[in-house]
Amino acid sequence: MVMMMATVTKIDDLNVKEKMQWCPGCGNFGLLSALKGAIFELGLKRHETVIVSGIGCSSKTPHYVNTYGFETLHGRPLPVASGIKLANTDLTVIAEGGDGDGYGIGVQHFVHIMRRNYDLTYIVHNNQVYGLTTGQASPTSLIGMKTKTTPWGVIETPFNPVAYAILGGATYVARGFAGEPDHLKELIKGGIAHKGFALIDVFQPCVTFNYLNTYQWFQERVYKLETQDPKHDASDREAAMEKALEDSKSGYKKVPIGLFFKEERPTYEDQLPQIKEKPLVKHDLTKIDLSEAYAELE
Ligand code: SF4
Repeated sequence: MVMMMATVTKIDDLNVKEKMQWCPGCGNFGLLSALKGAIFELGLKRHETVIVSGIGCSSKTPHYVNTYGFETLHGRPLPVASGIKLANTDLTVIAEGGDGDGYGIGVQHFVHIMRRNYDLTYIVHNNQVYGLTTGQASPTSLIGMKTKTTPWGVIETPFNPVAYAILGGATYVARGFAGEPDHLKELIKGGIAHKGFALIDVFQPCVTFNYLNTYQWFQERVYKLETQDPKHDASDREAAMEKALEDSKSGYKKVPIGLFFKEERPTYEDQLPQIKEKPLVKHDLTKIDLSEAYAELE
C-alpha cells in the first residue's frame, strides 16, 4: 500500500522516480512545473489529491506527480473525475488531457459536465495536434495547418474551448501558455481554489509535430488579460466572450491568456441531499434498506 499522508512540504515531494517519456522541449514540461507549483503553494495533501487523465502524451501527467492518479480511457477523464468527486467530496480532483482527448472524442463529457458545475479543475494541454499518434489534425488545429491527415491544410473551423466553456456553464474559464509557467501556475491555483468547474486551456507547444504553433509563434502573439488597460472584468460574460473570440477575429495576431470568466454558482454535489452532510464514502453502508426498491422490481 502506498502511504501518502503528508502535506506537500517541499516541491520535491511531488517528484516521482519514473522516467519521463516526453520529447525534449515539449510544452508539457512547463505545464507540469506549473501544476506542481500550484499543488505545492496551495499546501494540498498528496493523499487528498487525485489527478485523472485520458490518453495522449499529456495524459502521462498522473505518472509524473506524486499524488493519487488515474489514467483512464481516451476522452474519459471528466466522467471518471466526476465519479471520484461524487464518491468523496473531500478530495481535490484535477482532470487533465489533451485537445484531441477532451475536445475530440471526449467533447460530449466536456459539454455536459461543465453545465453541472462539479467542483473539478480541468486542465487541457492544447497543442493543436495529435502528438502521441505522430501528427494528425486535432479539433483545435488552425485553418491551413498541414498535418499527416491534412496534407493540403486544415479546412475546418477550429473548436474554441474558451468560448464554449463561457457559454456552456463553466464557472472559472482561463487560458495559459506553457512558455509562461509562473503565470500558468497562478491560473491553476485559482482554478483549484475556485468552488465549481474550472477549465484551464493551455497552449502547449508540441515541438515534434506542430511546426506552426511554436514557442516563438505564441511569444509573438500572446498577451496577458491582467495587464490590460482598462482591466478585463472577469465577471462580465459578454466581455469574456469578446476576449474569447479575439484570436480568430484578429487573424491570430492577438491571443489573450489569463482569466476570462468567473462566477459563483452552487456546485452539483452541494445540491445533492445525500452527500450534503458528509461524503458518500463516509456513509454507513450496513444501514441501507433496499427492500422497497427490490419490491418494485418484483
Ligand atoms: Fe510533446 Fe509533441 Fe513530443 Fe508529445 S509528441 S511529447 S506533445 S513534443
